[in-house]
Amino acid sequence: MERFKVGILGGGPGGYVCALRAAQLGLSVVLVEGERLGGTCLNRGCIPTKALVKSAEVWRELKHAEEFGISLGDKSFDFEKIMSRKDRVVNTLVGGIEQLVKAGKIQVIKGWGEVKEPGKIEVETESGRVSVEVDELVLATGSVPARLPIPGSDYPGVVTSDEILEMKTLPERLVIIGGGVIGLEFASIYQEFGVKVTVVEMLPALLANIDEEIPKRLTPLLKRSGMEIMTKTMVKEIKQGEGGGLLVVVEDAKGIKEIPADQVLLSTGRKPYLRGVDVEALGLKTERGAVLVNPQMQTSVPKVYAIGDVTGGMMLAHVASMQGMVAAEHIAGHPVEMRYRAIPSAIFTYPEIATVGETEQAIKTSGRSYKVSKFPFSANGKALALGETIGLVKILADEQGTVLGASIMGPQASSLIQELVLAVEKGLKGDELARTIHAHPTLPEAVMEAAHGILEKPLHLA
Ligand SMILES: Cc1cc2nc3c(=O)[nH]c(=O)nc-3n(C[C@H](O)[C@H](O)[C@H](O)COP(=O)(O)OP(=O)(O)OC[C@H]3O[C@@H](n4cnc5c(N)ncnc54)[C@H](O)[C@@H]3O)c2cc1C
Repeated sequence: MERFKVGILGGGPGGYVCALRAAQLGLSVVLVEGERLGGTCLNRGCIPTKALVKSAEVWRELKHAEEFGISLGDKSFDFEKIMSRKDRVVNTLVGGIEQLVKAGKIQVIKGWGEVKEPGKIEVETESGRVSVEVDELVLATGSVPARLPIPGSDYPGVVTSDEILEMKTLPERLVIIGGGVIGLEFASIYQEFGVKVTVVEMLPALLANIDEEIPKRLTPLLKRSGMEIMTKTMVKEIKQGEGGGLLVVVEDAKGIKEIPADQVLLSTGRKPYLRGVDVEALGLKTERGAVLVNPQMQTSVPKVYAIGDVTGGMMLAHVASMQGMVAAEHIAGHPVEMRYRAIPSAIFTYPEIATVGETEQAIKTSGRSYKVSKFPFSANGKALALGETIGLVKILADEQGTVLGASIMGPQASSLIQELVLAVEKGLKGDELARTIHAHPTLPEAVMEAAHGILEKPLHLA
Protein backbone atom coordinates (compact mmCIF):
# COMPACT_ATOMS: atom_id res chain seq x y z
CA MET A 1 0.00 0.00 0.00
CA GLU A 2 1.37 3.45 -0.96
CA ARG A 3 2.06 5.82 1.92
CA PHE A 4 1.82 9.64 1.91
CA LYS A 5 2.51 12.34 4.48
CA VAL A 6 -0.80 14.09 3.71
CA GLY A 7 -4.04 12.57 2.43
CA ILE A 8 -6.79 14.98 1.41
CA LEU A 9 -10.39 13.95 0.86
CA GLY A 10 -12.04 16.42 -1.52
CA GLY A 11 -10.48 18.59 -4.24
CA GLY A 12 -12.42 21.87 -3.90
CA PRO A 13 -10.77 25.24 -3.11
CA GLY A 14 -10.07 23.92 0.39
CA GLY A 15 -8.60 20.56 -0.61
CA TYR A 16 -6.67 21.45 -3.74
CA VAL A 17 -5.11 24.57 -2.17
CA CYS A 18 -4.10 22.47 0.85
CA ALA A 19 -2.54 19.98 -1.57
CA LEU A 20 -0.63 22.67 -3.48
CA ARG A 21 0.72 24.26 -0.29
CA ALA A 22 1.68 20.92 1.27
CA ALA A 23 3.51 19.98 -1.94
CA GLN A 24 5.29 23.38 -1.98
CA LEU A 25 6.48 22.59 1.54
CA GLY A 26 7.98 19.32 0.32
CA LEU A 27 5.36 16.94 1.73
CA SER A 28 4.11 13.92 -0.22
CA VAL A 29 0.42 14.40 -0.99
CA VAL A 30 -2.47 12.28 -2.20
CA LEU A 31 -5.68 14.07 -3.20
CA VAL A 32 -8.91 12.08 -3.55
CA GLU A 33 -11.77 13.59 -5.57
CA GLY A 34 -15.02 11.90 -6.60
CA GLU A 35 -15.90 14.39 -9.34
CA ARG A 36 -13.80 17.11 -10.98
CA LEU A 37 -11.06 19.06 -9.24
CA GLY A 38 -12.21 22.53 -8.18
CA GLY A 39 -15.21 21.33 -6.15
CA THR A 40 -18.39 23.35 -5.81
CA CYS A 41 -16.61 26.65 -6.38
CA LEU A 42 -15.23 25.95 -9.84
CA ASN A 43 -17.85 23.52 -11.09
CA ARG A 44 -21.17 24.56 -9.52
CA GLY A 45 -20.58 27.77 -7.56
CA CYS A 46 -18.39 30.86 -7.69
CA ILE A 47 -17.04 30.56 -11.21
CA PRO A 48 -20.06 29.46 -13.30
CA THR A 49 -22.26 32.06 -11.57
CA LYS A 50 -19.74 34.80 -12.21
CA ALA A 51 -19.51 33.82 -15.88
CA LEU A 52 -23.31 34.28 -16.00
CA VAL A 53 -23.08 37.56 -14.07
CA LYS A 54 -20.71 38.81 -16.79
CA SER A 55 -23.11 37.81 -19.59
CA ALA A 56 -25.92 39.60 -17.73
CA GLU A 57 -23.69 42.68 -17.41
CA VAL A 58 -22.87 42.71 -21.13
CA TRP A 59 -26.58 42.42 -21.93
CA ARG A 60 -27.41 45.26 -19.50
CA GLU A 61 -24.77 47.49 -21.06
CA LEU A 62 -26.09 46.76 -24.54
CA LYS A 63 -29.58 47.69 -23.40
CA HIS A 64 -28.21 51.01 -22.12
CA ALA A 65 -25.87 51.65 -25.05
CA GLU A 66 -27.92 54.65 -26.26
CA GLU A 67 -27.07 56.48 -23.01
CA PHE A 68 -23.42 56.28 -24.04
CA GLY A 69 -24.14 57.60 -27.50
CA ILE A 70 -23.97 54.21 -29.15
CA SER A 71 -26.76 53.04 -31.39
CA LEU A 72 -27.08 49.37 -32.14
CA GLY A 73 -29.48 47.59 -34.41
CA ASP A 74 -31.46 44.61 -33.23
CA LYS A 75 -30.06 43.20 -30.02
CA SER A 76 -30.59 39.65 -28.85
CA PHE A 77 -28.98 36.98 -26.70
CA ASP A 78 -28.79 33.21 -26.97
CA PHE A 79 -29.05 31.61 -23.53
CA GLU A 80 -27.66 28.30 -24.76
CA LYS A 81 -24.52 30.10 -25.97
CA ILE A 82 -24.31 31.97 -22.65
CA MET A 83 -24.36 28.62 -20.84
CA SER A 84 -21.76 27.19 -23.27
CA ARG A 85 -19.46 30.12 -22.51
CA LYS A 86 -19.95 29.45 -18.80
CA ASP A 87 -18.94 25.81 -19.39
CA ARG A 88 -15.83 26.89 -21.31
CA VAL A 89 -14.76 29.20 -18.49
CA VAL A 90 -15.24 26.38 -15.96
CA ASN A 91 -13.39 23.84 -18.13
CA THR A 92 -10.44 26.18 -18.63
CA LEU A 93 -10.09 26.76 -14.91
CA VAL A 94 -10.51 23.10 -13.97
CA GLY A 95 -7.87 22.24 -16.61
CA GLY A 96 -5.59 24.83 -15.02
CA ILE A 97 -5.97 23.27 -11.57
CA GLU A 98 -5.26 19.81 -13.01
CA GLN A 99 -2.03 21.18 -14.51
CA LEU A 100 -1.00 22.85 -11.26
CA VAL A 101 -1.64 19.69 -9.25
CA LYS A 102 0.34 17.65 -11.77
CA ALA A 103 3.22 20.13 -11.70
CA GLY A 104 3.22 19.89 -7.90
CA LYS A 105 3.68 16.10 -8.18
CA ILE A 106 0.50 15.55 -6.19
CA GLN A 107 -0.96 12.09 -6.60
CA VAL A 108 -4.63 12.45 -7.58
CA ILE A 109 -6.97 9.51 -7.14
CA LYS A 110 -10.27 9.88 -8.99
CA GLY A 111 -13.08 8.24 -7.07
CA TRP A 112 -15.17 8.45 -3.92
CA GLY A 113 -13.05 7.99 -0.82
CA GLU A 114 -14.01 6.35 2.45
CA VAL A 115 -12.42 6.94 5.82
CA LYS A 116 -13.04 4.72 8.83
CA GLU A 117 -9.73 5.27 10.64
CA PRO A 118 -7.35 8.27 10.68
CA GLY A 119 -4.42 6.76 8.75
CA LYS A 120 -6.15 5.21 5.78
CA ILE A 121 -8.29 6.27 2.78
CA GLU A 122 -10.03 3.68 0.65
CA VAL A 123 -11.17 4.81 -2.76
CA GLU A 124 -13.68 3.31 -5.16
CA THR A 125 -12.08 4.07 -8.54
CA GLU A 126 -13.16 3.13 -12.06
CA SER A 127 -10.54 0.39 -12.05
CA GLY A 128 -11.38 -1.00 -8.61
CA ARG A 129 -10.81 -0.32 -4.95
CA VAL A 130 -7.56 1.39 -3.94
CA SER A 131 -6.21 2.00 -0.43
CA VAL A 132 -3.59 4.51 0.65
CA GLU A 133 -1.94 5.08 4.02
CA VAL A 134 -1.54 8.65 5.21
CA ASP A 135 0.21 10.19 8.21
CA GLU A 136 -2.15 13.16 8.33
CA LEU A 137 -5.68 13.20 6.99
CA VAL A 138 -7.44 16.38 5.81
CA LEU A 139 -11.20 16.28 5.38
CA ALA A 140 -12.24 18.78 2.69
CA THR A 141 -15.52 17.26 1.57
CA GLY A 142 -17.39 20.55 1.26
CA SER A 143 -21.13 21.13 1.36
CA VAL A 144 -24.31 20.48 -0.59
CA PRO A 145 -27.54 22.48 -0.95
CA ALA A 146 -29.79 22.15 2.10
CA ARG A 147 -33.27 21.19 0.90
CA LEU A 148 -35.99 22.30 3.33
CA PRO A 149 -38.79 19.77 3.77
CA ILE A 150 -41.27 21.83 1.74
CA PRO A 151 -44.10 19.64 0.42
CA GLY A 152 -43.83 19.44 -3.36
CA SER A 153 -40.14 20.32 -3.49
CA ASP A 154 -39.47 17.11 -5.40
CA TYR A 155 -41.65 18.12 -8.37
CA PRO A 156 -39.90 18.52 -11.72
CA GLY A 157 -39.02 22.17 -12.16
CA VAL A 158 -37.98 22.60 -8.52
CA VAL A 159 -34.21 22.89 -8.60
CA THR A 160 -31.18 23.84 -6.51
CA SER A 161 -28.21 25.91 -7.66
CA ASP A 162 -26.59 22.67 -8.89
CA GLU A 163 -29.33 21.96 -11.41
CA ILE A 164 -30.15 25.51 -12.47
CA LEU A 165 -26.57 25.90 -13.66
CA GLU A 166 -27.17 23.06 -16.13
CA MET A 167 -30.36 24.51 -17.68
CA LYS A 168 -30.15 25.43 -21.35
CA THR A 169 -33.34 27.50 -21.49
CA LEU A 170 -34.80 30.32 -19.43
CA PRO A 171 -38.12 29.95 -17.64
CA GLU A 172 -40.70 32.71 -18.04
CA ARG A 173 -41.33 32.92 -14.30
CA LEU A 174 -38.81 31.96 -11.63
CA VAL A 175 -39.63 31.84 -7.93
CA ILE A 176 -36.57 31.85 -5.70
CA ILE A 177 -37.05 30.52 -2.18
CA GLY A 178 -34.43 32.20 0.00
CA GLY A 179 -33.19 35.79 -0.20
CA GLY A 180 -29.58 35.05 0.74
CA VAL A 181 -26.44 35.50 -1.34
CA ILE A 182 -26.95 32.59 -3.75
CA GLY A 183 -30.65 33.29 -4.28
CA LEU A 184 -30.08 36.98 -5.00
CA GLU A 185 -27.20 36.35 -7.39
CA PHE A 186 -29.44 34.11 -9.50
CA ALA A 187 -32.29 36.63 -9.11
CA SER A 188 -30.12 39.43 -10.54
CA ILE A 189 -28.90 37.27 -13.45
CA TYR A 190 -32.35 35.97 -14.43
CA GLN A 191 -34.03 39.34 -13.99
CA GLU A 192 -31.57 40.89 -16.42
CA PHE A 193 -32.47 38.30 -19.07
CA GLY A 194 -36.15 39.21 -18.81
CA VAL A 195 -37.38 36.44 -16.50
CA LYS A 196 -40.16 37.42 -14.08
CA VAL A 197 -38.38 36.81 -10.77
CA THR A 198 -40.02 36.57 -7.34
CA VAL A 199 -37.88 36.18 -4.24
CA VAL A 200 -39.54 34.75 -1.15
CA GLU A 201 -37.74 35.29 2.15
CA MET A 202 -38.94 34.18 5.57
CA LEU A 203 -36.95 36.84 7.49
CA PRO A 204 -37.87 40.56 7.63
CA ALA A 205 -35.02 41.51 5.27
CA LEU A 206 -32.85 40.10 2.48
CA LEU A 207 -29.20 39.19 3.08
CA ALA A 208 -29.31 38.51 6.81
CA ASN A 209 -25.94 38.88 8.59
CA ILE A 210 -24.59 41.84 6.66
CA ASP A 211 -24.86 45.52 7.62
CA GLU A 212 -28.61 46.16 7.70
CA GLU A 213 -28.29 49.38 5.73
CA ILE A 214 -27.24 47.48 2.60
CA PRO A 215 -30.33 45.27 2.11
CA LYS A 216 -32.44 48.32 3.04
CA ARG A 217 -30.89 50.19 0.12
CA LEU A 218 -30.77 47.17 -2.22
CA THR A 219 -34.37 45.98 -1.87
CA PRO A 220 -36.04 49.04 -3.47
CA LEU A 221 -33.49 48.94 -6.29
CA LEU A 222 -34.32 45.31 -7.03
CA LYS A 223 -38.05 46.10 -6.88
CA ARG A 224 -37.56 49.04 -9.24
CA SER A 225 -35.89 46.67 -11.71
CA GLY A 226 -39.13 44.67 -11.78
CA MET A 227 -38.29 41.94 -9.29
CA GLU A 228 -40.90 40.96 -6.76
CA ILE A 229 -39.49 40.71 -3.25
CA MET A 230 -41.58 39.12 -0.52
CA THR A 231 -40.06 39.25 2.95
CA LYS A 232 -41.60 37.90 6.18
CA THR A 233 -43.17 35.30 3.92
CA MET A 234 -43.23 31.55 4.54
CA VAL A 235 -43.42 28.99 1.78
CA LYS A 236 -46.08 26.44 2.77
CA GLU A 237 -45.93 24.10 -0.23
CA ILE A 238 -45.31 23.81 -3.94
CA LYS A 239 -48.20 22.53 -6.03
CA GLN A 240 -48.49 21.47 -9.64
CA GLY A 241 -50.68 23.99 -11.43
CA GLU A 242 -53.05 23.27 -14.22
CA GLY A 243 -51.35 23.33 -17.61
CA GLY A 244 -47.97 22.12 -16.38
CA GLY A 245 -46.67 25.07 -14.32
CA LEU A 246 -46.00 25.21 -10.59
CA LEU A 247 -47.71 27.16 -7.85
CA VAL A 248 -45.73 28.26 -4.83
CA VAL A 249 -48.07 28.61 -1.88
CA VAL A 250 -46.86 31.29 0.52
CA GLU A 251 -48.18 32.90 3.66
CA ASP A 252 -47.52 36.38 4.95
CA ALA A 253 -49.29 38.69 7.41
CA LYS A 254 -52.04 39.26 4.84
CA GLY A 255 -52.78 35.56 4.36
CA ILE A 256 -52.16 32.80 1.83
CA LYS A 257 -51.14 33.50 -1.75
CA GLU A 258 -50.24 31.30 -4.73
CA ILE A 259 -47.40 32.43 -6.98
CA PRO A 260 -47.30 30.83 -10.43
CA ALA A 261 -43.87 29.68 -11.60
CA ASP A 262 -42.26 27.70 -14.39
CA GLN A 263 -39.22 27.00 -12.26
CA VAL A 264 -38.56 27.20 -8.52
CA LEU A 265 -35.05 27.65 -7.17
CA LEU A 266 -34.46 26.39 -3.65
CA SER A 267 -31.67 28.49 -2.20
CA THR A 268 -32.18 27.91 1.48
CA GLY A 269 -28.55 27.53 2.46
CA ARG A 270 -26.00 24.76 2.32
CA LYS A 271 -25.07 21.99 4.73
CA PRO A 272 -21.75 20.27 5.41
CA TYR A 273 -21.18 17.12 3.35
CA LEU A 274 -19.52 14.15 5.00
CA ARG A 275 -19.82 11.57 2.26
CA GLY A 276 -17.63 8.55 2.98
CA VAL A 277 -16.52 9.84 6.37
CA ASP A 278 -17.45 7.48 9.19
CA VAL A 279 -17.94 10.13 11.85
CA GLU A 280 -18.68 7.63 14.61
CA ALA A 281 -15.87 5.18 13.86
CA LEU A 282 -13.41 8.10 13.74
CA GLY A 283 -14.90 9.68 16.88
CA LEU A 284 -15.17 13.09 15.17
CA LYS A 285 -16.89 15.83 17.14
CA THR A 286 -19.49 17.67 15.08
CA GLU A 287 -22.05 20.40 15.73
CA ARG A 288 -25.16 20.62 13.56
CA GLY A 289 -23.41 18.44 10.99
CA ALA A 290 -20.23 20.57 10.82
CA VAL A 291 -16.86 19.17 11.89
CA LEU A 292 -15.47 21.03 14.91
CA VAL A 293 -11.93 22.36 14.49
CA ASN A 294 -9.41 24.49 16.38
CA PRO A 295 -7.60 27.52 14.86
CA GLN A 296 -4.99 25.14 13.37
CA MET A 297 -7.85 23.26 11.62
CA GLN A 298 -7.29 20.14 13.74
CA THR A 299 -10.40 18.13 14.56
CA SER A 300 -11.07 16.37 17.87
CA VAL A 301 -9.22 13.32 16.48
CA PRO A 302 -5.38 13.40 16.43
CA LYS A 303 -3.89 13.52 12.91
CA VAL A 304 -7.23 14.46 11.35
CA TYR A 305 -7.75 18.00 10.05
CA ALA A 306 -10.88 19.49 8.47
CA ILE A 307 -11.13 22.56 6.25
CA GLY A 308 -13.68 24.49 4.23
CA ASP A 309 -17.45 24.19 4.10
CA VAL A 310 -17.46 20.88 5.99
CA THR A 311 -16.45 22.88 9.09
CA GLY A 312 -19.52 25.16 8.76
CA GLY A 313 -19.03 28.84 9.59
CA MET A 314 -18.49 31.18 6.66
CA MET A 315 -18.96 28.93 3.65
CA LEU A 316 -16.76 30.84 1.23
CA ALA A 317 -14.12 29.65 -1.20
CA HIS A 318 -11.41 32.03 0.05
CA VAL A 319 -12.02 30.92 3.65
CA ALA A 320 -11.70 27.26 2.58
CA SER A 321 -8.45 28.03 0.74
CA MET A 322 -6.90 29.91 3.66
CA GLN A 323 -7.91 27.07 5.98
CA GLY A 324 -6.25 24.67 3.52
CA MET A 325 -3.03 26.72 3.68
CA VAL A 326 -3.15 26.78 7.48
CA ALA A 327 -3.69 22.98 7.70
CA ALA A 328 -0.82 22.28 5.27
CA GLU A 329 1.54 24.64 7.08
CA HIS A 330 0.61 23.25 10.50
CA ILE A 331 1.27 19.72 9.27
CA ALA A 332 4.67 20.97 8.07
CA GLY A 333 5.40 22.23 11.59
CA HIS A 334 4.76 25.96 11.12
CA PRO A 335 3.22 27.92 14.02
CA VAL A 336 0.10 29.14 12.18
CA GLU A 337 -3.51 29.78 12.99
CA MET A 338 -6.68 30.83 11.21
CA ARG A 339 -7.93 34.37 11.87
CA TYR A 340 -11.49 35.39 11.06
CA ARG A 341 -11.44 39.12 11.80
CA ALA A 342 -11.15 40.36 8.24
CA ILE A 343 -13.02 38.03 5.92
CA PRO A 344 -14.38 39.71 2.83
CA SER A 345 -17.72 38.67 1.48
CA ALA A 346 -18.76 39.58 -2.05
CA ILE A 347 -22.30 39.43 -3.40
CA PHE A 348 -22.61 39.65 -7.17
CA THR A 349 -26.04 41.21 -7.41
CA TYR A 350 -26.65 44.36 -9.43
CA PRO A 351 -25.47 46.59 -7.86
CA GLU A 352 -22.61 44.54 -6.46
CA ILE A 353 -22.07 44.34 -2.70
CA ALA A 354 -19.03 43.58 -0.57
CA THR A 355 -18.48 43.64 3.15
CA VAL A 356 -15.77 43.05 5.73
CA GLY A 357 -15.48 43.07 9.50
CA GLU A 358 -18.08 44.26 11.95
CA THR A 359 -21.55 45.49 11.08
CA GLU A 360 -23.08 48.68 12.48
CA GLN A 361 -25.82 46.70 14.25
CA ALA A 362 -23.25 44.45 15.97
CA ILE A 363 -21.19 47.42 17.19
CA LYS A 364 -24.34 49.19 18.41
CA THR A 365 -25.55 46.10 20.25
CA SER A 366 -22.19 45.77 21.98
CA GLY A 367 -22.67 49.28 23.39
CA ARG A 368 -19.34 50.63 22.05
CA SER A 369 -19.20 54.14 20.67
CA TYR A 370 -18.13 54.33 17.04
CA LYS A 371 -17.77 56.54 14.01
CA VAL A 372 -19.42 56.01 10.67
CA SER A 373 -18.51 57.61 7.38
CA LYS A 374 -20.30 57.23 4.06
CA PHE A 375 -19.39 58.37 0.59
CA PRO A 376 -21.80 58.00 -2.33
CA PHE A 377 -20.64 56.84 -5.77
CA SER A 378 -22.69 59.71 -7.23
CA ALA A 379 -19.88 62.02 -6.03
CA ASN A 380 -17.10 59.94 -7.61
CA GLY A 381 -15.89 61.06 -11.04
CA LYS A 382 -15.06 57.60 -12.36
CA ALA A 383 -18.43 56.20 -11.28
CA LEU A 384 -20.10 59.06 -13.15
CA ALA A 385 -18.06 58.31 -16.28
CA LEU A 386 -19.02 54.64 -16.00
CA GLY A 387 -22.69 55.51 -15.57
CA GLU A 388 -22.66 53.58 -12.28
CA THR A 389 -23.56 56.14 -9.64
CA ILE A 390 -25.82 54.06 -7.40
CA GLY A 391 -24.45 52.99 -4.02
CA LEU A 392 -21.91 54.00 -1.45
CA VAL A 393 -18.83 53.16 0.58
CA LYS A 394 -19.58 52.92 4.30
CA ILE A 395 -16.77 52.63 6.84
CA LEU A 396 -17.15 51.96 10.57
CA ALA A 397 -14.37 52.85 12.97
CA ASP A 398 -13.76 53.12 16.69
CA GLU A 399 -13.40 56.46 18.48
CA GLN A 400 -9.70 56.62 17.56
CA GLY A 401 -10.50 56.06 13.89
CA THR A 402 -9.34 52.44 13.63
CA VAL A 403 -11.34 50.70 10.91
CA LEU A 404 -13.63 48.01 12.32
CA GLY A 405 -15.71 47.14 9.30
CA ALA A 406 -16.97 48.32 5.94
CA SER A 407 -19.69 47.76 3.39
CA ILE A 408 -19.70 48.77 -0.24
CA MET A 409 -22.62 48.71 -2.62
CA GLY A 410 -21.85 49.80 -6.16
CA PRO A 411 -19.52 49.29 -9.12
CA GLN A 412 -16.63 46.87 -8.54
CA ALA A 413 -17.54 46.54 -4.85
CA SER A 414 -15.93 43.09 -4.71
CA SER A 415 -12.55 44.51 -5.76
CA LEU A 416 -12.81 47.79 -3.85
CA ILE A 417 -13.38 46.01 -0.54
CA GLN A 418 -9.84 44.62 -0.53
CA GLU A 419 -8.31 47.91 0.66
CA LEU A 420 -10.67 47.81 3.61
CA VAL A 421 -9.94 44.13 4.26
CA LEU A 422 -6.30 45.11 4.66
CA ALA A 423 -7.32 47.99 6.93
CA VAL A 424 -9.37 45.72 9.22
CA GLU A 425 -6.74 42.97 9.19
CA LYS A 426 -3.89 45.35 10.06
CA GLY A 427 -5.88 47.65 12.36
CA LEU A 428 -5.26 50.69 10.13
CA LYS A 429 -6.77 54.06 10.93
CA GLY A 430 -9.03 55.99 8.58
CA ASP A 431 -6.46 58.75 8.05
CA GLU A 432 -3.82 56.17 7.07
CA LEU A 433 -6.11 55.18 4.20
CA ALA A 434 -7.09 58.76 3.44
CA ARG A 435 -3.47 59.94 3.30
CA THR A 436 -2.44 57.16 0.96
CA ILE A 437 -2.51 58.63 -2.53
CA HIS A 438 -5.20 57.09 -4.71
CA ALA A 439 -5.03 57.31 -8.51
CA HIS A 440 -7.46 59.68 -10.19
CA PRO A 441 -10.03 59.17 -11.60
CA THR A 442 -10.75 55.80 -10.02
CA LEU A 443 -13.40 54.07 -7.94
CA PRO A 444 -10.97 53.53 -5.01
CA GLU A 445 -11.12 57.31 -4.51
CA ALA A 446 -14.58 56.67 -3.06
CA VAL A 447 -12.90 54.52 -0.38
CA MET A 448 -10.35 57.28 0.23
CA GLU A 449 -13.12 59.89 0.57
CA ALA A 450 -15.08 57.72 3.01
CA ALA A 451 -11.83 57.26 4.97
CA HIS A 452 -11.39 61.06 5.10
CA GLY A 453 -14.82 61.23 6.68
CA ILE A 454 -14.00 59.05 9.66
CA LEU A 455 -12.31 61.72 11.76
CA GLU A 456 -12.89 64.73 9.49
CA LYS A 457 -14.98 65.19 6.35
CA PRO A 458 -14.81 63.86 2.79
CA LEU A 459 -13.38 66.54 0.49
CA HIS A 460 -15.70 66.05 -2.43
CA LEU A 461 -18.98 66.08 -0.53
CA ALA A 462 -20.86 69.18 0.55
C1 LIG B 1 -24.08 28.93 -6.52
C2 LIG B 1 -22.91 29.17 -5.61
C3 LIG B 1 -22.16 30.33 -5.77
C4 LIG B 1 -21.09 30.56 -4.93
N1 LIG B 1 -20.37 31.70 -5.10
C5 LIG B 1 -19.32 31.95 -4.30
C6 LIG B 1 -18.53 33.13 -4.48
O1 LIG B 1 -18.79 33.95 -5.37
N2 LIG B 1 -17.48 33.32 -3.65
C7 LIG B 1 -17.18 32.43 -2.65
O2 LIG B 1 -16.21 32.65 -1.92
N3 LIG B 1 -17.88 31.31 -2.47
C8 LIG B 1 -18.95 31.05 -3.27
N4 LIG B 1 -19.65 29.89 -3.10
C9 LIG B 1 -19.25 28.98 -2.01
C10 LIG B 1 -18.05 28.13 -2.42
O3 LIG B 1 -18.35 27.42 -3.59
C11 LIG B 1 -17.70 27.16 -1.29
O4 LIG B 1 -17.53 27.87 -0.10
C12 LIG B 1 -16.41 26.41 -1.59
O5 LIG B 1 -16.52 25.67 -2.79
C13 LIG B 1 -16.05 25.47 -0.44
O6 LIG B 1 -14.89 24.79 -0.74
P1 LIG B 1 -14.57 23.35 -0.12
O7 LIG B 1 -13.26 22.97 -0.67
O8 LIG B 1 -14.77 23.39 1.34
O9 LIG B 1 -15.73 22.40 -0.67
P2 LIG B 1 -16.26 22.06 -2.12
O10 LIG B 1 -15.91 23.12 -3.08
O11 LIG B 1 -17.68 21.70 -1.96
O12 LIG B 1 -15.41 20.79 -2.54
C14 LIG B 1 -15.54 19.57 -1.90
C15 LIG B 1 -15.13 18.48 -2.87
O13 LIG B 1 -15.03 17.27 -2.16
C16 LIG B 1 -15.47 16.22 -2.99
N5 LIG B 1 -15.82 15.10 -2.13
C17 LIG B 1 -16.72 15.10 -1.12
N6 LIG B 1 -16.73 13.90 -0.51
C18 LIG B 1 -15.82 13.14 -1.14
C19 LIG B 1 -15.38 11.81 -0.97
N7 LIG B 1 -15.85 11.02 -0.03
N8 LIG B 1 -14.45 11.34 -1.83
C20 LIG B 1 -13.94 12.13 -2.81
N9 LIG B 1 -14.32 13.40 -3.01
C21 LIG B 1 -15.24 13.89 -2.17
C22 LIG B 1 -16.65 16.83 -3.75
O14 LIG B 1 -16.89 16.12 -4.95
C23 LIG B 1 -16.14 18.25 -4.00
O15 LIG B 1 -15.48 18.35 -5.23
C24 LIG B 1 -20.73 29.62 -3.93
C25 LIG B 1 -21.47 28.45 -3.79
C26 LIG B 1 -22.54 28.22 -4.63
C27 LIG B 1 -23.31 26.94 -4.47
